Amino acid sequence: MNEAVIELNSVGFTYVAKGLTFTALKDVSLRIRAGEFVAIIGPSGSGKSTLLNLLGLLARPSTGTMSIFSEPVESLNDSQLAKLRNQALGFVFQNFSLVSRLTVLENILLPSTFEGDLDSQRSIEHRKKALALLTRFGLDSLADRLPHELSGGQKQRVAICRALLMNPVLLLADEPTGALDSKSSQEVLAMLDDLHREGCTVIIITHDPDVAARAQRIVSIRDGQIAQVEEQGALPREGAKEIVPTKRNFFSEEEKGWKGKQRLIVQSLLMARRSLATHRSRSLLTGLGLFIGILSLIIIDGLGEIVQNSFNKLFFTSSVRKAFIYYDADRGGFHGARHSAWRGLHAQDEFPKLAQMFEKKGIIRPFLRTSICQIKSPTGTLRARLSGVSDPAEFIEMDTLLRTGRWPSAGEFSAGSTVAVLGSDTVEQLFDKADPRRMEANFPVGQRLVVDNCNTLGTFTVIGVLNKRDTTFGNREANDVLYVPNNTLLARMGPTFYSWFSVLPNEGIDTRNLAQEITTYLSLQSGGRLTFGSAIPADILDRVRGFLWIIQAIVGFIGGLCLFVGGVGIMNMMLVTVAERTREIGLLKSLGAQNNHVRAYILTESVLLCFWAGCLAVCTGFVANNLFSFGVSSFVPMLREFRWVFAPLGLSAGLLVSLACGLGFGALPAARAASLDPAECLRAE
Ligand code: ADP
Ligand code: MG
Repeated sequence: MNEAVIELNSVGFTYVAKGLTFTALKDVSLRIRAGEFVAIIGPSGSGKSTLLNLLGLLARPSTGTMSIFSEPVESLNDSQLAKLRNQALGFVFQNFSLVSRLTVLENILLPSTFEGDLDSQRSIEHRKKALALLTRFGLDSLADRLPHELSGGQKQRVAICRALLMNPVLLLADEPTGALDSKSSQEVLAMLDDLHREGCTVIIITHDPDVAARAQRIVSIRDGQIAQVEEQGALPREGAKEIVPTKRNFFSEEEKGWKGKQRLIVQSLLMARRSLATHRSRSLLTGLGLFIGILSLIIIDGLGEIVQNSFNKLFFTSSVRKAFIYYDADRGGFHGARHSAWRGLHAQDEFPKLAQMFEKKGIIRPFLRTSICQIKSPTGTLRARLSGVSDPAEFIEMDTLLRTGRWPSAGEFSAGSTVAVLGSDTVEQLFDKADPRRMEANFPVGQRLVVDNCNTLGTFTVIGVLNKRDTTFGNREANDVLYVPNNTLLARMGPTFYSWFSVLPNEGIDTRNLAQEITTYLSLQSGGRLTFGSAIPADILDRVRGFLWIIQAIVGFIGGLCLFVGGVGIMNMMLVTVAERTREIGLLKSLGAQNNHVRAYILTESVLLCFWAGCLAVCTGFVANNLFSFGVSSFVPMLREFRWVFAPLGLSAGLLVSLACGLGFGALPAARAASLDPAECLRAE
C-alpha cells in the first residue's frame, strides 16, 4: 500500500464573512495515496474549490484534522506551509493565473524565486528545467512571449509547466479545462495523464464526467459532503517515482541565507519595474506628487542657501563684521590717543604682540584718528579728521570702490607718505564749485591739501576719492574723513600708543566671542585694573538672521506638507495596486511565496517609485537652485558674482527622504498585501 500524501479526517470548513457563517465542507474524510490520480466532481457550489484549497494548504480546516506526509497541518506554521506549497505542491487553476507582466519563461521560473537558499548553481538548474519543460510540451517558441500573446490552451500548458518546475509530489488542478475548447482540453488532459504516468500524484477538480473518467478514483461531493467514492481502473503505479521525499526537506527550518535575500531583492526589483512600467501614466502621476514634495524641500534648502549668501554679501560685509575694542574709561566715548587714564598699547612692541596673539582668529588693527583738523585746499576749507589705515587690505574691507584715483601703494604705507584718499563727502566742501580745475579728468587727484590741527601736520597730496560708504552700521563719520596711511599719522602726531582697535574676525570665527576674548586679555594684562568695551555693529544682524530662520522654518513646513501629500498619493496608489493584484498575490502565495516575499514586492515597488521621483527631484532641484542663483547674480547689482548652490543637505536628504517615503508610505499597503489570505485572494474577481 502506498503511503498517504495527504489525509483528511472529518474535516469541516466554515466561511466567516461579516458575521455570517457558511459551512462549505462537513465531515470530509479523504486519503490521497502517493501516485494516485483522483478526480473530485460535483455541481457548482458543492465545495470542490474549498476542498482543493485545504488539500493545497491554502486554508486550514475549521474542524477535524489533516496531515500532509503524516505531519499534522496544525503543527505547521504559515511559513512552513508556504515552503510545502513551494516544494511539494503544484497548482493549476481554471483561469491560467499567469502573471501578465512576466514572460512565459519568467512565469515558469516564478516558484523558484521563493526557494529559500537559491545559489547561482540552483538557478541555472531551474532555468534548464524550465526550458526542458517548455520543449517537452512543445512550447519552446513561446519562452519570451507575454501571457496576453498566448491562446487559452497555451496559457494553461504554461501554467502546468510552472506547476512542474519544482518537481511537485502532488499536482492540484481546479477545473483546468473549464475555460478551454475541446482540443486544448485534450492537450491539457494529456499532459496530466503523462505526469501521472511518471508517478506524480494528481488531483483534478471538474464537473465534466468525461474528464473525471480518466481518473483512478472519482470522489463526488454534494453540499459539502462526500457523496460517493468510485474506484475505477488500476491502483496507483508502484515505484514509478520516488514519490514521498524525505520529510526533512520540507519541515526543516527555513535557511535564511544572504543569497536568498539577494535573489529576493533582484526578483522584487524586476517585478516592481515591470509593474510600474505597466501602469506608466499612473506611476508617473503618482511619482509626480512625491517629486514635487521632495523638489520643494530641495528648493527651499537651496533658496535658504541663496538667501544666506545674499544676506551675508549684502549686509555682513567686512566693514560690518568688524568689532571695535576701546578702553572703557568712564563709559564716555573718545577717539584717538588723546586721553589720560590709559596710555594704550605701544605701537612697536605691545600692539604687534596683541595682533600676533590673535592672528589665527582675526586681524586686529589700530583704529587711529586725529582730532578735528583744519584742512585747506586752494579754494576751500574743511574741518574734519584724518583716519589712519594700516594696510591696503583695510581699504578693500571698506566695502566700497574708488570713485577716482588709486589706493596708497605698499611703499607709501610703510614710508608714511603724505598721501590722502578723500571720503566722498569731503570733496564738496574742500573745493569750490566754481573751481575751474573741476573740469579736469580725475579731479581732485593731485591736489595738495594743508592739514593743520594744533601744530601743522603737513601738506598732503590727494591720490583718490572714495565712493560713498554705507554707514548704516556704525562708523557714521566714514564719508567725512581723509584716509591716510597709519605710519604717516604715527610719524607726525607721535601717538606711539594705540588705545582703540578694530577687529576683523576670520571666516568662521564669532565676532562677539573674539571681541570678548580680546577685552578679557587686555583687562588681564592690566592686572584687572582697566575695563575694556567692545562695539559690535553686526549685532542687529543676528535678529535679522533669527527672522530669516523663522521664515525658512515656515516655508520648510509647507514643503513638508507637500511631501506628505505626495507620500499619501504613493500610499493610495499602492493600496490600489494591492487591491488590483489580489488574485496575483493569491497566486504567488500558492506558488510558495512567504508573507515576507509579498511584503518585499510591494515595498520594493513603492521604494523604487519614490527613489525615481527622488533622483529626478534631486537633479531638477540642483538645476533650479542654480538657475535661481544665476538670476540673483544677474539682477541684484550688489551680488554680481554667480555662486554655485549645492544645498548638500537638501540633495542628500532628498534621496534619503524619498527612500524613507517609499518605506513609510509603502508599509501599510505591503502589510495589507502580506496578510491577505491566499484562498480568499484566489477567489477574488
Ligand atoms: P465549488 O468550487 O464546488 O463551486 P466552492 O468551494 O467555491 O464551490 O464554494 C462552496 C460554497 O462556499 C459555495 O456555496 C460558496 O457560495 C461558498 N463560499 C465560497 N467562498 C465563500 C466565502 N468567502 N464566504 C462565504 N461563502 C463562501
Ligand atoms: Mg470552484
